[in-house]
Amino acid sequence: MRLADTVDRRAVLRTLGGGAIAVFVVGCGGSDAPAYTPTVPDLVSPSSIPDPIGHVITRWPHDEFARGAYSYLARGSSPDDRRALATSIDDRLWIAGEAVDSWNPATVHGAFSSGRKAAQQVATTDARRVLVVGAGIAGLSAARFLTDEGIEVRIIEARNRTGGRIHTDRSLGVALDLGASWIQGPDSNVITDLCNNAGIERVATNYNDLVVRSDTGEYIPGPEIPERYEIAADVVLEYAADLRDLEPGFDDEGASLLGRDVVFPDGYDQVVDHLADGLDISLSDKVTEVQLGAGGPIVIADSGEHAADAVIVTVPLGVLKEDVITFVPPLPDTHRGAIERLGMGHLQKVYLQFPEVWWEPEIQFFGLLGSDSDRFPWWMNMAPITGDPVLVAFHGGSAADELIELTDEAIVDDALLALHQMFGVGSGS
Ligand SMILES: Cc1cc2nc3c(=O)[nH]c(=O)nc-3n(C[C@H](O)[C@H](O)[C@H](O)COP(=O)(O)OP(=O)(O)OC[C@H]3O[C@@H](n4cnc5c(N)ncnc54)[C@H](O)[C@@H]3O)c2cc1C
Repeated sequence: MRLADTVDRRAVLRTLGGGAIAVFVVGCGGSDAPAYTPTVPDLVSPSSIPDPIGHVITRWPHDEFARGAYSYLARGSSPDDRRALATSIDDRLWIAGEAVDSWNPATVHGAFSSGRKAAQQVATTDARRVLVVGAGIAGLSAARFLTDEGIEVRIIEARNRTGGRIHTDRSLGVALDLGASWIQGPDSNVITDLCNNAGIERVATNYNDLVVRSDTGEYIPGPEIPERYEIAADVVLEYAADLRDLEPGFDDEGASLLGRDVVFPDGYDQVVDHLADGLDISLSDKVTEVQLGAGGPIVIADSGEHAADAVIVTVPLGVLKEDVITFVPPLPDTHRGAIERLGMGHLQKVYLQFPEVWWEPEIQFFGLLGSDSDRFPWWMNMAPITGDPVLVAFHGGSAADELIELTDEAIVDDALLALHQMFGVGSGS
């Protein structure tokens, strides 16, 4: 999840680098975002907070087939590592996915492009049968391109569903995106094109539409928001890593994002379903080995051995780091070094469903500034998007690591305590 338009984000980070804080808003929106207006919004002061009637909590680092949220430039790594990973091995094996796209890293559209680029390169070889490992957006875009080129392609996917880190949960009767939520920089974006073709509805969000309160419920105007909040709510949530773990210059990576970010009221998985339609996908089929022998590549999966002319591996960086897939012979040093150096970030979401909306129904984002603001710094209001009484909290980096060790019940209690603080309601329960 990346919160802000690159240009605005850089302004925030430059200010941080300079020490003094003169930033008005956290996570400024796209290039068409309105200027900050220093008026106190119409705020509610609830006397109590009802118990939630449902919750959904993500645990991406514990997910065997993700092992984290998305990649970041860890200390000692560089965009060259992403480019090295994207380089083919003997024109028979490609690695694709969000971590290898140096132009739009850590995003859905970057993952899509990386898959398509790998597929375009495969199409210039004599390969006629291709195996794609992973049915996330990178694997699906690779397979779609090759299929359209008339090349035989099969996707082997470990999960019992497609989409990978795009995953819409409907267990509470509302579409909740547990992985990616936004098309970031929707202007001139391949995912926007896909949505337009498929007629998929999107709603623009505005990061300026943010109310930050102290842990005693006091409204904090933009100019008074301190640096540590900017870091917790902007840098850590956007890069899914603590500032100390990021390579200097991490924010210079990639292309500028244009336009105001949009979300999907009916779920991001509509994009996945559209792309996957008609493709040959073997689900619940975990790959354990990729061999590049003299006779051509062989992929070993739960379903058996599969021979091919070329293989595109799109499993997440976190999975590559854990050596879940054995490469025979081992990947070259260039690739292994890149896998080691790049970081796999952690970002969690806690969705809480209430009996009704008791907060400001129209305001899109809420912030908590207080002793505990590292854990629940930033909340999104789903009511303006889906019409449902649902709030979602985001936590990233080491705060996410600490939180996911707790039970669901303890996390919900912590989230409720944060809400009591944020809205100045008693001492919490
Ligand atoms: C919480 C969260 C919030 C995010 N928010 C945003 C956002 O708002 N906007 C945005 O643009 N991006 C966001 N992202 C990032 C975005 O989701 C990813 O960049 C993108 O979905 C990655 O696609 P991919 O195809 O590279 O990888 P994946 O989607 O992870 O696909 C890889 C596939 O490989 C499969 N696999 C793994 N191991 C094996 C194996 N051994 N054998 C076979 N298959 C295997 C996996 O099951 C998976 O389906 C977010 C991510 C998270 C986790």
